[in-house]
Amino acid sequence: MYLPTSADILAALGLSCSHCHKMNSSSEERGLLRCSGCRRLAYCNNECQKADWRNHKAICQTLQLVEKDIEATSEMAAAFPEAAQNDLKTLDRISVAHADQMVALCEKLLQRSLTSREIDVISYEPKCLACARTDMILRTKAHMPEAESTGAVITPCERCKMSFGCCDEHWSVARALHQGPCDDLPGTVSQCDKNLEMCADVDYSAVLTAAQEKHFMWRIIQRQATWSPLTGCTWKEVIGSDVASAAAGTAFERHVPACTRRISSLASTAFTILYALEHLNTGVAWTEKSELTINMIIASPLDFFEAGYVYEAILHRAPKVKKLVFYFFLPKGVPGEISQAWASEICGDCASKTKGIFNHFVMTRTFESFVHNEAELFVQPDLFIATSSTIIAEHDPAQWRRTIALLVARRIPSVFTTFSRRLAESGQAVMRECGAELVPSLSGVRNPFGDMKMNPNFDKVHGFHAPNAWFVGGFR
Ligand SMILES: [Zn+2]
Ligand SMILES: [Zn+2]
Ligand SMILES: [Zn+2]
Ligand SMILES: [Zn+2]
Ligand SMILES: [Zn+2]
Repeated sequence: MYLPTSADILAALGLSCSHCHKMNSSSEERGLLRCSGCRRLAYCNNECQKADWRNHKAICQTLQLVEKDIEATSEMAAAFPEAAQNDLKTLDRISVAHADQMVALCEKLLQRSLTSREIDVISYEPKCLACARTDMILRTKAHMPEAESTGAVITPCERCKMSFGCCDEHWSVARALHQGPCDDLPGTVSQCDKNLEMCADVDYSAVLTAAQEKHFMWRIIQRQATWSPLTGCTWKEVIGSDVASAAAGTAFERHVPACTRRISSLASTAFTILYALEHLNTGVAWTEKSELTINMIIASPLDFFEAGYVYEAILHRAPKVKKLVFYFFLPKGVPGEISQAWASEICGDCASKTKGIFNHFVMTRTFESFVHNEAELFVQPDLFIATSSTIIAEHDPAQWRRTIALLVARRIPSVFTTFSRRLAESGQAVMRECGAELVPSLSGVRNPFGDMKMNPNFDKVHGFHAPNAWFVGGFR
């Protein structure tokens, strides 16, 4: 499954180079050259633009064709409100409908489906926070001979440069929304604050190298002498001081908050597993088992292969557990060996205590057919977890219902996570219909151990989403 990184999104917003992702935050336009064709993407220089042209050419030329089509653009422009709105639902509806229409128009002109990157160019086009009009819509309206030109041009927020307003009047309405607490974010964090964090995350990526990261991570997720509950804790409380002390005197020192977010991103599923086990069990007997078995549905095999070592946080925080056994499933089976098994690389301390993480990647079967047909291999797990579960549900709702019904029937302790409040709420209703008796602390609520690196919502003027950010539902 494709998920753009913070760097991809900044590039799609035209705020970093679309080729090398470099940002130049020193000047107003960040010292970047804007593509003169579509006026959407930006580049460091001609070399970067040339290098990206193969990827950008088709969508660039297509966007120019759309913009020249006065009939199509004036029809699209008519769908936007003239006056500033503060009703986010209305703005989101208009904004999503417009992006869908743009994608459909471009696909018709190109006679093919757009790539994910091309869709990002449309989804993340700068748009007014108060009327949802995009940069292109504002340009075309200004150029329409019969329409009164308001002279409006989209202007970025002076602080974060990542959110936009079309005129002073619209900014005066939008400012409260932009600088006030955002529903999707913890505490009083605003859209403006979160935007600035995204820029810091991109800066941090530049100092990060994968090899350093693994050892750094092992130092952060320090081995605990005894299990201590995660309820009531935040990421900052759990890993903040470890990050700060491990980063002291290293290249990471200037980037402690971004580094904490990066670790949360890697370790989110591991901590979500611990948090869910804590809430699905009474007492701490589960932390005293020598072996824990986890079944997990993942969206793509890469999710696992790229970051297998992150699950070691479970061994470090629940020190009596010696063996962690994972069974990974894809939403749909793929051809190949029925099961691939391997052991994860672990830190020296765990190795000396003969601990281990053993993984089975069940290729050919869905979770249901594995449970039904491989009775000799199936072990009742301590936890079933589906991350990004509602995306899977949107692709194949019938299959999703069958999975939930099976988990309920087998009394398998289960937890489902997703990206946003909206997805959590709709998914929760389906889970109840399937007979799940949901545990309130794991259902339709924000996950304190979700990925802190949140991305702005596609196609919308406001809001953020992240993997594991919300619990859809948990039951046992
Ligand atoms: Zn560049
Ligand atoms: Zn272009
Ligand atoms: Zn506006
Ligand atoms: Zn701002
Ligand atoms: Zn270890």
